[in-house]
Amino acid sequence: MAKKIIIVGAGIGGLSAGIYALKAGFEAEIYEKNPLAGGECMGWNRKGYHIDNCIHWLTGTDSNTKLWQVWKTVGAIDENTEYANTHKFYSSRIDGKELTLWNDLKKTEEELIKAAPEDEAEIRKFIQHVEYAKSCAVPSDKPLDMMKIKDYIEMGKDMADMPKVMKEYGKISCSELAKRFKNPVMQKLMCDYLPADYTAYSFLVSYATMASGNGNIPLKGSLAMSLRIAQRFKDLGGILHTNTPVKRIIIEKKRAAGIELEDGTIVKADEVISAVDVDFLYGKLFDRKYMPKDLKKAYENRKAYPITTGFQVAYAIDSNFSGDDTIFFECEPLQIGSLSFKRMSVKSYAYDKSFAPEGKTVLQANIVQSDIDYEFWSSLSAEEYKQKKAELAEELTKRIIKEFPELEGKIELLDCWTPLTYSKYCNAYHGSYMGFVTTVGNKQMRFKGIVKGVSNLFIAGQWVMSPGGLPIALISGKFAVQRILKRDGRSIEI
Ligand SMILES: Cc1cc2nc3c(=O)[nH]c(=O)nc-3n(C[C@H](O)[C@H](O)[C@H](O)COP(=O)(O)OP(=O)(O)OC[C@H]3O[C@@H](n4cnc5c(N)ncnc54)[C@H](O)[C@@H]3O)c2cc1C
Repeated sequence: MAKKIIIVGAGIGGLSAGIYALKAGFEAEIYEKNPLAGGECMGWNRKGYHIDNCIHWLTGTDSNTKLWQVWKTVGAIDENTEYANTHKFYSSRIDGKELTLWNDLKKTEEELIKAAPEDEAEIRKFIQHVEYAKSCAVPSDKPLDMMKIKDYIEMGKDMADMPKVMKEYGKISCSELAKRFKNPVMQKLMCDYLPADYTAYSFLVSYATMASGNGNIPLKGSLAMSLRIAQRFKDLGGILHTNTPVKRIIIEKKRAAGIELEDGTIVKADEVISAVDVDFLYGKLFDRKYMPKDLKKAYENRKAYPITTGFQVAYAIDSNFSGDDTIFFECEPLQIGSLSFKRMSVKSYAYDKSFAPEGKTVLQANIVQSDIDYEFWSSLSAEEYKQKKAELAEELTKRIIKEFPELEGKIELLDCWTPLTYSKYCNAYHGSYMGFVTTVGNKQMRFKGIVKGVSNLFIAGQWVMSPGGLPIALISGKFAVQRILKRDGRSIEI
C-alpha cells in the first residue's frame, strides 16, 4: 500500500507538495484552516468587483525556463495561458515629474537619460546590469544540496552574467543605489518599489524578471491560479480538507506520527510536510526547540531580517483608469503608529477585465509596512483597530484624489486590510507576505526543509529561502517530496 503523506497548509507550497507527492506514488491529504486553498495567493469579491491580492509578477512564465515546467506540472499555467498586456514595472513621481521603468529596457534607458542627463553613466550601467540580471534563474530541478558538480556547472552557465550583477549591486541597499544618482526622481525610482534596506541586486532581478518576459501576470488573477492548482491536486487523487485547522504535529519516538486537528481528531500519517509559516510551525504546531539556529537568530534580530507586509486599500473606480500603471508618489505625511509615511503607491487593475464591471476599474493603494507596524496594529483593541482602518482609508483616499484629481466623485472604497489580515488569515509571521528581507551584510536566509531529530517531518513554503514569494513556495513543495524520495533511496526525478 502507498505511504500516506499529510500536508499542513494549502498555500502554493502545500499544494505543490501534494501534487508532487501524488506524482511520486504516495497518497496525499492536505489540511487547510481556511475555506479555500491558496493561502497568500488570494483574491476576494466586494460589491461586484474582484480584489486580486497577490500576483504582481509570476516568475517562471517564460516557457523556456525550468520553473515554467514546474508551474505547468502543478496546473498553474500552460501553453494556452493568457497574460495581462502590461508594459511597465512601475513609475515614480515627484514634483510633477514622472519616470518609468518600462519592460523595454532600451526605451527606459532613453527616457531616463533624457530626463536625467547628469546621471547618464549610472543609468547606462544600471540598465546593462538589469540586462545581465535576466540570466538569474530559480533552481527548480532539485534542492541545492542535492545538486551534483555537473548541475552546478550547468547552473553557472545559465546564470553566467549574475556574478557581474552581484559584484556591482550585491553589497549595497536600494537606498545606497539611489544615492548613486543625482536626479531626485531617479533617486525615488530606485528605492520606491522595494523597502530601502533591501539589497539592490534583488531590485535589479525583479525588474529583469519583468523585462525579460519571465514575470507575466496570468489573467483572472491569483485566486483563480490557486484554484487551478488545487483542482490539479484533486484530479490526481489528492484529498483536500478545507476549514480544517491543524492544532499540532504529533511526535512519537522521534517520528511524526500524524497530526491532531483543532477539533481533537487524530490523523495518522507515514510522513508529514508542514507548509505553514515557519514561526507558526515551530511555535504552535511543534516544539520551538527544533528550530534551526540561523532561523532562530533571524527571529531574534528583527533589524537584520525584517519582513514585508502592507496597509492596503481597494477602490472601485467609475472609469477606465490608466491602463496598467503602478505609480508611486509623494503624499502628505501619513502617520501609522510611530512611523510617518511620505510616499505611497496606487496600482490599477484595468489590465484584467474580469475584475470589474464594464467601464470600471479596481485600484489598490499600498503603504509598505514591516515589523514595527505590525506591532502597532496588534496593540489596538478590536474597536480601535476598526476605527483606525477606516480613518486611514479616508486619509489615503484624500491623498489619491489630490494626486489624481480626475478621480474626484468616481472613487468608492471597496475594502481595506492590514498586516493583521495576513496573520489572522494565514498565520503569517507579523503579517509577512514574503520571506525575510535580505539586508546588506546579512546572510540570505535559507535552510533545508528538514527537521533534525525527526526523520519523517519536512518543511515546505516560502520561508525556506529568502526572499520567498510564489516561485520559492512552489519549488519548496517539490523539494520536500524529493527529500523523502532521497531518504528512501528512490529516484528524485519527478
Ligand atoms: C499583496 C501581495 C502581493 C504579492 N505579490 C507577489 C508577487 O507579485 N510575486 C510573487 O512571487 N509573490 C507575491 N506575493 C507572495 C506570495 O503570495 C507568497 O510568497 C506565497 O503565496 C506564499 O505561499 P506559501 O505556501 O509559502 O504560504 P501561505 O500562502 O501562507 O500558505 C500557508 C497555508 O497554511 C494555512 N495554515 C496556516 N495555519 C494552519 C493550520 N494551523 N492548519 C491548517 N492550515 C494552516 C494557511 O491558511 C495557508 O493557506 C504576494 C503576496 C501578497 C499578499
